[in-house]
Amino acid sequence: MKLLKEKVLQEGIALNEQVLKVDSFINHQIDAKLMKEIGLEFARLFANEKVTKILTIESSGIPPALMTGLEMDVPVIFAKKHKSLTLTEELISQEVYSFTKQVTSNVAVSRKYLNSEDHVLIIDDFLANGEAALGLAKIIESVGAKVAGIGIVIEKAFQPGNAKLQEAGYRVESLVRIKQLAKGSITFVEDEEEQGQTSSKGELN
Ligand code: 5GP
Repeated sequence: MKLLKEKVLQEGIALNEQVLKVDSFINHQIDAKLMKEIGLEFARLFANEKVTKILTIESSGIPPALMTGLEMDVPVIFAKKHKSLTLTEELISQEVYSFTKQVTSNVAVSRKYLNSEDHVLIIDDFLANGEAALGLAKIIESVGAKVAGIGIVIEKAFQPGNAKLQEAGYRVESLVRIKQLAKGSITFVEDEEEQGQTSSKGELN
C-alpha cells in the first residue's frame, strides 16, 4: 500500500533493529484519512471471504479494525486487556505475551459477542511474533467460530509471526512488509530496489 509505505518512510522511527515507532499516525496520534484508506484496502483484500465480524485487540488495533468494519458493514469487537466492573458477562480469555510491553496479559472477549456461526476477520496494527493474532484466533475457535483471515497493517517480516500464522492455516494479508530495520533506514520486502531508502527520522539507539 503506497500511501502507507510513504508514511512509514517519512514518519516511522526505527527505535532499534526490532521495533518501529509510528506514534505520529498509528499508536498515539492517528491519521484518520490514512485509516480510512487502510479500511478500504482490507475490505478489498478480504472481499471474497465470508466475514460476519471483525476482532482486534485494544488499543492500537481499534482504528484500522473500525474502518474495516465500516467498509465491510460488520460489527467490530476489541478484546480487552484489563478487567472492568462493566465486564459482567461470561468471558472468553486467553493469555497473550506483548512484544512491546514484554508482559503477558489476559485478553478477554465477552461470550455474548461471538457465536459458533461467526466468520471472524482479525485485524491488528503490527505483526511481530504472532502472539496477539494467535491469541485472538484461539478465542474465536474456542466458541466454534471460524477465522476468516488476518489483516495486518505493518508486518515485520524478519520476525516469525507470518510463518507461524500460515503454518496454523490462516490467510494473512499485510499492507506493508518490513524486511529490515536499521539505523536511519527502513526496507520493505516488496521493494528490494528501494533498499537504502531512508526514513527522515530513522534513528537507532
Ligand atoms: P506479536 O503479538 O505479533 O508478537 O506483536 C504484535 C503486537 O505487538 C501488536 O499488537 C503491536 O501492538 C505490538 N508490536 C509489535 N511490534 C511492534 C513494533 O515494532 N512497533 C509497535 N509500535 N508495536 C509493535
